[in-house]
Amino acid sequence: MKKIKLKEKDFEIYLSDSQINSRITEIGLKIKEDFDGEEVILLGILNGSFVFMADLVRKINLSVHCEFLRISSYQGTSTTEKVKTVMGLTTDIFNKNVIVVEDIVDTGISMNFLLSELSKKNPKRLAIATLLFKKDAFRFNYPLDYVGFEIPNKFVVGYGLDYDGLGRNFPDIYQLSTTK
Ligand code: 5GP
Repeated sequence: MKKIKLKEKDFEIYLSDSQINSRITEIGLKIKEDFDGEEVILLGILNGSFVFMADLVRKINLSVHCEFLRISSYQGTSTTEKVKTVMGLTTDIFNKNVIVVEDIVDTGISMNFLLSELSKKNPKRLAIATLLFKKDAFRFNYPLDYVGFEIPNKFVVGYGLDYDGLGRNFPDIYQLSTTK
């Protein structure tokens, strides 16, 4: 079994690059079908989505704009409060078809925040494409339009996802090992 070590933590292979690639091909075809004849803005959430975005965009046979943004969190005035802001969104999404591209939806808190911010700008259609979805951790009920894989509630790295800044460069996706 393929294994990697990052900062003394062991990870084992969970999804191979070929599994990921064929699933992304299916998602690309579905997006083409759903938005046929229309222009679409793909909005990648940095940093984690950059690999998925690069592969997905090449599987969508439509007129596509590629944009990126970052959600940053900082400590608010009270000790428990985490304030989130959207940074780097420079394009006007009013009356446009927008697909938010995310590496993983876990609790769904980040995406929930982003959806409420983006909705204020009145896009024509706002959809979500996430490569991974931790269904058991998800705390909301907004729809996820395009999901690559539903995965168990375990920490994953690779294919854009990091552990303490490392591991984004691996072509496969790895799970934290439970065995030594
Ligand atoms: P949320 O809980 O708000 O849905 O997820 C927030 C962010 O936590 C994700 O965008 C991602 O950056 C990070 N995250 C959640 N689960 C994992 C995981 O298993 N591995 C990695 N590398 N990041 C994760």
